[in-house]
Amino acid sequence: MSTSRNIKAATGQTLECKGWEQEAVLRMLSNNLDPAVAEKPEELVVYGGIGKAARNWEAFDAIVSVLKRLENDETLLIQSGKPVGVFRTHPAAPRVLLSNSVLVPKWADWPHFHELDKKGLMMYGQMTAGSWIYIGSQGILQGTYETFASLAEKHFDGSLKGTITLTAGLGGMGGAQPLAVTMNGGVVIAVEVDQERIAKRLSSGYCDRQAASLKEALHWAEEAKQEGEALSIACLGHAEDIHKQIIAQGFPIDIVTDQTSAHDPLNGYIPTDLSISDADELRKQNPELYVEKASYSMAEHVRTMLKFQKHGSIVFDYGNNLRQVAYDAGVNEAFDYPGFVPAYIRPLFCEGKGPFRWAALSGDPEDIYRTDQLVRDLFPDQDPLLRWIDKAQKKIKFQGLPSRICWLGYGERVKMGLGINELVRKGELKAPVVIGRDHLDCGSVASPNRETEAMKDGSDAVGDWAVLNALINTAAGGSWVSFHHGGGVGMGYSLHAGMVAVADGTDLAEERLKRVLTTDPGMGIMRHADAGYEKAEQEARRHNLDIPMLGR
Ligand code: NAD
Repeated sequence: MSTSRNIKAATGQTLECKGWEQEAVLRMLSNNLDPAVAEKPEELVVYGGIGKAARNWEAFDAIVSVLKRLENDETLLIQSGKPVGVFRTHPAAPRVLLSNSVLVPKWADWPHFHELDKKGLMMYGQMTAGSWIYIGSQGILQGTYETFASLAEKHFDGSLKGTITLTAGLGGMGGAQPLAVTMNGGVVIAVEVDQERIAKRLSSGYCDRQAASLKEALHWAEEAKQEGEALSIACLGHAEDIHKQIIAQGFPIDIVTDQTSAHDPLNGYIPTDLSISDADELRKQNPELYVEKASYSMAEHVRTMLKFQKHGSIVFDYGNNLRQVAYDAGVNEAFDYPGFVPAYIRPLFCEGKGPFRWAALSGDPEDIYRTDQLVRDLFPDQDPLLRWIDKAQKKIKFQGLPSRICWLGYGERVKMGLGINELVRKGELKAPVVIGRDHLDCGSVASPNRETEAMKDGSDAVGDWAVLNALINTAAGGSWVSFHHGGGVGMGYSLHAGMVAVADGTDLAEERLKRVLTTDPGMGIMRHADAGYEKAEQEARRHNLDIPMLGR
């Protein structure tokens, strides 16, 4: 049922709950559904196709009412977006434990999920949608920025100046692509089938302009490339169609990727021969035919990307499982271009680095600017990190609660977390701060077509690591800990865990932050050291991590 509600996180110091942790959960759940943050809040959809924050409005209301009565030594259990129980635990235990979209492996596919979803027994939690730590497009922006920066380092002497990137999808995650490319100095054409999504990215400043036609987009792109200017251009249309036209014209493209919601062929990808409204109709009338059409379009889309690769473009998969759908539809060479993790991100994972983020519960942007300063004070020698903080401060408009993200590694996260807790304790911040991360992190995910693609020891599909991550972060005392299935790449393709901790300036928070911000990135180093990555082994030794079977 679609209901129009205008949800916003409360701000300031007055609590609606019995403690700051519960209050933090309530504010972050509400923040996930703030119309300025979520993609389709009226359907409880936060981002990533049908990634939801709660199963339905009834469940949402029940969660809110439990959070308001939850004691400081109780733990609420959430099963796929529905509150199912409260137990007395203890003050250092998580206040909420969540499990989202987890199916027994033999049943772990979209048809089973949709069947259960229709019966009201499940919801798709994506990654940070169902675990209540989505912060809008900024969350993905840093990761996308890191990815393009790493690509620029590898292929273009450290800058995208004078290059043109072609991509598609300007949704919750994909909407970060234009800004990430321009922040790296490049030109980007982003194809998007939905005019509303384009308008959203233009108004948020993530995309510079929209071209009236492909001809105009190519003209602007060429001009900006020649002048060495950074420019992002949105182009309305279907990816496959526009990409084919560009290939046919022989227009040179340097980099090609994609962030349409290919992970969900029924709800996420619009087949090339359908308008959005026709797609909505067919989805309801004949879902099988819809999936067939979407899969066909995706297969053609990938064939075109492979052609770009043959013509010399750098092509990479951006974590939406497009290659798998194309492969299943008969494109045998679909995996000829790499995923972004093995291509650009894995060395960072070996250092326990990943998308660390925090949100100011005060609602005051000044609190985030104060923490930006904390980053500068704590890590004065890290130029790329400081560059990011400067750029983020200038370019990013906050969506919902003011927040910040930056990639930090083992040792750095705990330093930052304790630093934030001190600022809260000293009253330099106006309210507590929530500290969390994406599930797309170094030690929290098993996803053979994405985060764990092409692992050195072939352990791509080993899900134990994600389970252990959730368990150790629960033991260490995260404020809310979650375990999910199917995020990013869809049902059957991933298992992953989330962790959020609240810095409220107390001694107990300090203790818990110290533990959980060590165990969490520590799992990343352990996982990669276990897989035989030398860099991770070195990091493990450097930080004295206790890994019983690591050769000394
Ligand atoms: P979204 O559903 O919010 O947006 C997808 C966009 O693609 C929509 O705007 C839609 O209109 C557009 N689209 C659909 N079909 C199209 C077509 N044929 N041509 C052009 N545009 C089309 O999803 P999102 O949150 O932006 O996520 C995008 C994908 O990236 C998902 O598959 C998600 O799982 C994946 N993802 C990647 C990362 C990463 O780090 N790389 C992280 C999270 C999610």
